[in-house]
Amino acid sequence: MDCPYCGAYNPEGRTTCWRCDRELPKPKPKKKRDPQQTAKLWLYIALAIFFVITILQTCGFRLPGSPQPPQSPQQQGPSGHLMPSRPPIVWQMERPWWL
Ligand SMILES: [Zn+2]
Repeated sequence: MDCPYCGAYNPEGRTTCWRCDRELPKPKPKKKRDPQQTAKLWLYIALAIFFVITILQTCGFRLPGSPQPPQSPQQQGPSGHLMPSRPPIVWQMERPWWL
């Protein structure tokens, strides 16, 4: 930056002017984030993710790794009706997997 007193150029990082030896104004610090604001932001992000997952699960979306319904073909029951090979897994909406 240029010295505001004598106009001499001073490389970045210098605190005093090389020519007039006066204190140089500190370069404007980068906008510091308020830690409380950052915590609030993360809280909002966590809440958003929580709601998205809850909504998706309510709509029937299954997360990868969550129990999948059996994909085996259905078998013919003795009475001629189509019988599932296994009883379907009942998804408990009241208690999501993370609780
Ligand atoms: Zn100077």
